[in-house]
Amino acid sequence: MENKNSDLSKIISVIEKSNNIVIAGHTNPDPDSIGSCLAMAMALNKKGKKVNVLLEDFSRKFDIIPGKNFIFKGDINILKPDLFISLDCGGIERLGNSLDLFKECENTIVIDHHISNNYFGKYNFINPNVSSASELVYKIIVNICDIDKDIASAIYAGILVDSGGFRHKTTSSETLKIASCLLEKDIDFSNIYNRLIKMKTYEEFSIFKKAIGKAIVLKDIPVAYTTLTFEDFKECNADNKDIGGIVEFILNMEGIEVSILAYQKSESETKISLRSKNIDVNKIASQFGGGGHINASGVTLRKNIEDSIEDILSCLRKEF
Ligand code: 5GP
Ligand code: MN
Repeated sequence: MENKNSDLSKIISVIEKSNNIVIAGHTNPDPDSIGSCLAMAMALNKKGKKVNVLLEDFSRKFDIIPGKNFIFKGDINILKPDLFISLDCGGIERLGNSLDLFKECENTIVIDHHISNNYFGKYNFINPNVSSASELVYKIIVNICDIDKDIASAIYAGILVDSGGFRHKTTSSETLKIASCLLEKDIDFSNIYNRLIKMKTYEEFSIFKKAIGKAIVLKDIPVAYTTLTFEDFKECNADNKDIGGIVEFILNMEGIEVSILAYQKSESETKISLRSKNIDVNKIASQFGGGGHINASGVTLRKNIEDSIEDILSCLRKEF
C-alpha cells in the first residue's frame, strides 16, 4: 500500500496494462457509485478490456444511467481479475460482498472522494475536495477514450446527485467545466435531474411520508431526527433502497444544523445517516467506526434504534 496518491499518469498506465478488470462500488449504491462504475466500465470496454462491474441491486429509477449490461450477475469466485478498481468507497468495508475479491487481487486502484478514506488501495486516486467519484473518473477516462453520450450521461448522473444539484461546497468551477463538456454530448440532462433528484416511486413516497411524520425536533440542540423500523418498512412496502432524500429533507428545516435518520438494519443493527449544514459529521460517524464527508456521513451500530440515537446525540451534544 503506497498510502498516498499516485499520479494520474501512473493510474492510467496501471489501467492500460490490465486486461481483465473488475470494478466495484459501495453497498446500497447511489447514482455516484453506479455512474462512476458504469462510466469506467464503458470506457474500458471501448479500449478492448474485459470488464465486470460488481454492484448490489438498486432502485429502478437509476436505470436511466447507461451501462447496466456490464453488471456481473453470478458467482463472484469465477472472476480472476488482474486489476480491481474500487469506486466511491470511503472505507474498505463499504465494498460489501466484493471485499474478499478485492483483498485477493494483487493490483488495486481506489478512486474516491470521501474524507474518511485511508488509502486502502495499492494505487490511490483520492481527493476529498471534489464533488464525486464520477468527477474523478472523468479526469481519468478523458485521457484514455472518446467520451460518448452514454459515458457522459453516467458521469453527469454521478456528479449531479453527489453535488446536490451543483449545490454542495465541493462543486468547483472545474466541476461545472466538466458538466459543460458532458452537455456537449447531447445528454438528456433534464430527464436525468427529474428521475434522479425529483421523482419518487410510490414506495419512496410512502416511506418518506412515514419518516417525516415521525420526525422529532430537539429543544436543547439544533438537531432533528427520525427513525424507521421493520414495521414501518413493511407497512410502506419499502426497503432501504427507498429512503433517499429523507435525511436531507429534515435538514432543510430552518435552524436545524444536523439531521439524523436511524433505521433498523437487522434485529441487532441500526444504520445511522447524518447530514449537517456546518458541523463535521464525518467526525461523529468516525467515532463509531463509520465515515463519509464533512456534511454527510453514516455508520452502522450494533444496537437497537433507541440506544443508537442516544449514543449519537450524546456525541453531538459535545459539538454544540
Ligand atoms: P448515507 O447516510 O447516505 O448512507 O451515507 C452518507 C455518506 O456516508 C456516504 O458518502 C457514504 O459513503 C458514507 N457512509 C455511510 N455509511 C458508512 C459506513 O458505514 N462507513 C463509512 N466509512 N462510510 C459510510
Ligand atoms: Mn460519492
